Order: sequence, then C-alpha cells, then structure tokens
Amino acid sequence: METNILIIDDSETIRREIVQILKAHSLSTFCHEAGDGLEGLKLLLGIKIDLVLCDVEMPRMDGFRFLSMVRARNELRDIPVILLTGKDDRGSKISGLEQGANDYITKPFDDGELVARVKVHLKIKRLQDQLRKANELLTEVSHTDHLTGLYNRRYLMDVLEREFSRARRNGGFLSLLIIDIDRFKDINDRYGHQGGDLVLAEAASVFRDQLRSYDIAVRFGGDEFVAVLPGTAPSEAMSVAERVRKAIEESRFPGDMTQIRLTFSIGVAVHPADGIETVADFIREADCSLYRAKGQGRNRIEGPFLGAMASA
Ligand code: GH3
Ligand code: MG
Repeated sequence: METNILIIDDSETIRREIVQILKAHSLSTFCHEAGDGLEGLKLLLGIKIDLVLCDVEMPRMDGFRFLSMVRARNELRDIPVILLTGKDDRGSKISGLEQGANDYITKPFDDGELVARVKVHLKIKRLQDQLRKANELLTEVSHTDHLTGLYNRRYLMDVLEREFSRARRNGGFLSLLIIDIDRFKDINDRYGHQGGDLVLAEAASVFRDQLRSYDIAVRFGGDEFVAVLPGTAPSEAMSVAERVRKAIEESRFPGDMTQIRLTFSIGVAVHPADGIETVADFIREADCSLYRAKGQGRNRIEGPFLGAMASA
C-alpha cells in the first residue's frame, strides 16, 4: 500500500537525513518535503498524506502554528503529526503534545527510534481509517432499504425533521409526496411474493429516476414510497408527482411480467400551509391526499392546493 510522508523542516540536511532513514526501511513510498509550516500546509491540502514529521522552530509558520491549523480543519484533523524537537527542549515537547501532536522525536535522531515511532503511528492511522470506513458503511446500511436501495423510514424521519425545521426557519417551501402502488396485492397473487419483490424494486428505481439530485427518495414501507422535495413550491411538486405517475404508467417489466401495467396513487402536501405545524401534521396531510386519490379511482394525484390531477 502506498504511503505518503511529509517532512517539514527548514534544514535541508535534516530533511535529507530523514528521507534516507525512511527509504532505508521501506517506510515511505513517497516523501514530500517542505521548508516551513506554510509550505507544509499547502502540500497537505493538495496531497493525501499519511503522516507528518514537523520541526518546531521554523521561519514564517512554526510547528505549533502548523499543528493548530491542521487540527482546526476537519479533513486534516486525523493525520498523525510527529514533532521534531531539540534534545533539551522539554517545554516544546509538552506544549506540542498538548496542542495535538501525536508524538515527538528528539534531534539528533536515533534511526531505530524514528523508524519505530513512524511505524506505530502509521499503523494507528491505518486502523483508524478502517474503523471510519466501517462506520460509514454501517451508517449507510442503517439508512437504506435493502430491497429497493432507497432510503428507509428511519432515515426519512431524521431528514424530514431537519428539512421541516430548515423550511420553518428560512421560510422556504418543502413538499412531500406519498406514493402507493395501486392494487399491488394482485401482483403478489399472480406472480408470487418474489415476483412482487422484483416489481417493487423496479418501481422504486423508476420513481427515483424522476427526482432531482437533492430530492430524497424513500421506501416508506410495503408498497409505499415517499419523496421529500426541498425548496419545492406547490405547482412544482404537482409536476414532479405527475412525472412520477406517468413514468410508472409507461414502465414495462421484464420476463414473464410484460403484461403488468403498474400505476401509482400520489398524495401531495406542501409546507407552509394552514394546519401544518409539525412533521406529523405534514405526513398526515400527504396521507389524506393519498387517501383521496385512492378513493377517487387511483392512478391519480391529489394535493391540497391545486385539486386533483387525474390520469388521462
Ligand atoms: P391499493 O390500491 O388500495 O393500495 O391496493 P393494494 O393491493 O396495493 O393494497 P395495499 O397497498 O394495502 O397493500 C400492499 C401490499 O403489499 C400488501 C402486502 O402483501 C404487499 N407487500 C408489502 N411489503 C411487501 C414486500 O416487501 N414484498 C412484496 N412482494 N409484497 C409486499
Ligand atoms: Mg397499494
């Protein structure tokens, strides 16, 4: 695996010495060098660095200032920094560690100590990276519906609370579509539960393809989907709903399912509106619209403002 180490020291001799030691122990695929903290910071922002060895006393930007800049930035915060200090420089060692240095190495270097410390911190960094990736994956899995790949209900509730508060704070529109497949039980009866699953996954993908990148597509449960449309006014929300309705009506399914003509009933709610004070009100409003769409014949859209948009 490629390792990138950044060496920051105003003495070229010291930088050369460190590069030689690291190379001799095959510790760094690439050594990058900088003459002071500012130059080091620029390099750090441009290259993916795994570990930094940094002198304390340097012109323009010293090691402490460099350290505080690195720790203040989210994307750099986790990079291990080992300070290079003078033998008797006890004060620098202590303040360096207090300011977030991971370790220090005393000049003149003991090759073995330098190598051992670099190895330890590279290993910790690698383990931390793996842990972070595993956590990101877990978070993604916990937000995803496994059958359709859409977001799940749990994520919907989080996102809806967030978007609803934002819309109330900033005074913008927020729209919500609740979509239910018409007569889905018939599909299950005819093609079995597994066939029904295939149709559900395909319907989810048709639905998601009609949304914009900043809209949020959710499987609400069973044969119900939800779209959260931030910054979307009533007329736009109705257009999006019509696009979704039309797309599913025109969809054809593979294999022995070519006969299927699937339709959606869609309920729309838009915030702000009278009577919508909470997320629960908002969902209830969209649900009432959906109920009306079902009651009035299915394959249609009902919203609170513009009345019904029936199929042709
Ligand atoms: P309506 O037009 O009134 O919505 O009729 P419907 O037949 O679609 O009725 P409803 O929405 O109440 O029922 C949805 C059905 O979806 C009931 C359930 O058996 C089925 N279902 C729920 N989850 C799944 C699933 O994960 N896979 C499959 N294959 N079927 C599911
Ligand atoms: Mg249904």
